[in-house]
Amino acid sequence: MTIPGQLNPSPRLLLGPGPSDAHPRVLSAMTTPLLGHLDPQFLDIMTETQEMLRQVYQTRNVLTFPVSATGMAGMETCLVNLVEPGDRVVLGVAGYFGTRMVDIAGRCGADLTVLTRPWGEVFDLDQIRETLRRVRPKVFGIVHAETSTGALQPLDQLGKLCHEFDTLLLTDCVTSLGCVPVELDGWEIDAAFSCSQKGLSCPPGLSPVSLSDRAVHTLKSRKTKVQSWYFDLSSIQSYWGGERAYHHTAPITMVYAIREGLRLVLEEGLSARFARHVRNHLALKAGLTALGLKYIASEGHQLPQLNAVRLPDGIDDIASRKRLLNEFGIEIGGGLGEFKGKAWRIGLMGHNSRPDCVFQVLAALELVLGKAGVSLTPGVGVAAAEKVYATS
Ligand SMILES: *Cc1c(COP(=O)(O)O)cnc(C)c1O
Repeated sequence: MTIPGQLNPSPRLLLGPGPSDAHPRVLSAMTTPLLGHLDPQFLDIMTETQEMLRQVYQTRNVLTFPVSATGMAGMETCLVNLVEPGDRVVLGVAGYFGTRMVDIAGRCGADLTVLTRPWGEVFDLDQIRETLRRVRPKVFGIVHAETSTGALQPLDQLGKLCHEFDTLLLTDCVTSLGCVPVELDGWEIDAAFSCSQKGLSCPPGLSPVSLSDRAVHTLKSRKTKVQSWYFDLSSIQSYWGGERAYHHTAPITMVYAIREGLRLVLEEGLSARFARHVRNHLALKAGLTALGLKYIASEGHQLPQLNAVRLPDGIDDIASRKRLLNEFGIEIGGGLGEFKGKAWRIGLMGHNSRPDCVFQVLAALELVLGKAGVSLTPGVGVAAAEKVYATS
């Protein structure tokens, strides 16, 4: 066989649901020479990373570190550690990622109650309270930022509510961390997981996990062994936090990456970062609305970092996204599950939440929609976005 040529992919702007572009400083940190995974200097880097991660998660939880795999591994880690066969678990499902929690909890042998809302909606406290009162589960799990629908589930009152029923609150923060407020301690969240490639602007490969003391107590009181060896938090914690015993070889380069990603978040400041995401979202939203596109999630529950809109009638999903990619180098996401072929998902996450990204995607979408036969006044999307920037 002939040896394939050197890697040379076309430039892309990753404005889908993830991965989003890594920050240049993250990519540069990744060229740092390797250290051994037990080198005292690497152990210091791990400690710094954990300390920064606690700040970004707004928690003092001791058990806070990135699991060595993608966001789904964080989901699996939290569920396999907190759920034993026969445990009552309630899960809120209003989109695709909620259904994945159901699948994993089922594999853990949970006695499962699934609470549903139509995709794109969010749960209100009363519906959850009623179910918790009736079922009194060990764990209640819900997705904070449902990437399949673009809806933001309010979490601020949920922890207190769960604790009234002696229930642990587990939240999927994969698309929220680094983009919108996530306050583990203030909101009394017991278990959270996220990822490196969305709001933290790193490559995919790590899943930051954090457990409250209450959740750690539950973990320590298990009657059965965690069914996963690799994701057993007690043993991973002895590498990240305890006697630094060998568990697995840490992905050194990814730890360099997330350390730099977290430094960037803290340098910018959490509130400035969240405000930036809102500002760019409002500009994009004005532009998309001017192009005739409608959001799936209702007003007040839309994610700034993931803009999910309905595909206009008569527009070919695959062909349009192919044109965006091939002619403009822009990747956006299609619909998942129920919304396959019916939605577009435009991410403005972390480093990619910027005016130039907003203008590029609006200009390209206008041309693609225009060629597909939608009648639009030239420049209408870009002009609407510019107006938002000029007045905010
Ligand atoms: C992306 C995503 C995941 C999965 O993360 P991977 O890094 O793809 O494994 C889980 N939950 C939500 C809400 C997501 O958006």
